[in-house]
Amino acid sequence: MKTVICPGSFDPITLGHLDIITRASKMFDHVIVAVLSNLEKTPCFSLEERIRFIEESTKELHNLEIVGFKGLLAEYAREKNAVAVVKGLRALSDFEYEFMMALTNKKLNPDLETVFLTCNSEYMYLSSSIVKQVASLKGDISNFVPTCIHDEILARLNKQ
Ligand code: ADP
Repeated sequence: MKTVICPGSFDPITLGHLDIITRASKMFDHVIVAVLSNLEKTPCFSLEERIRFIEESTKELHNLEIVGFKGLLAEYAREKNAVAVVKGLRALSDFEYEFMMALTNKKLNPDLETVFLTCNSEYMYLSSSIVKQVASLKGDISNFVPTCIHDEILARLNKQ
């Protein structure tokens, strides 16, 4: 059985994240969505909220495990017997950082691969921070986040 990990802050989950998670779930037997709790910046949404948004958005995917995560990804992957980390690559701007992370993880855990999926061209410039910025200025985020969590995200971000 091939297990992979999709790590991220998912603050909140976007259609770009959902696209990568969905594609990973078709390619591998078991996908662990690891939601980072030790973020450098204080997240807008709590860990519980971020996990719940992912759960609600991925109800039809049956090989997912959604977990809160802190610590070293390379170690966690070893504990979970994961063969790879799956990441989405957007513009060139993602490349340098992702390359550094992939090589670091490989040094820490030589058995761990990093698989990069090219992002869907529609979501090339989509990020959680864009969602937060647009929503806080009362813009339309319906093309950016899963429909089932749209209203809740909007209500929360408009309150701030
Ligand atoms: P963000 O940059 O939106 O804060 P995260 O840190 O939560 O994202 O990213 C988690 C993973 O999801 C990363 O591998 C990132 O490359 C990927 N990802 C984020 N946004 C997109 C997108 N629009 N399309 C494809 N992959 C994405």
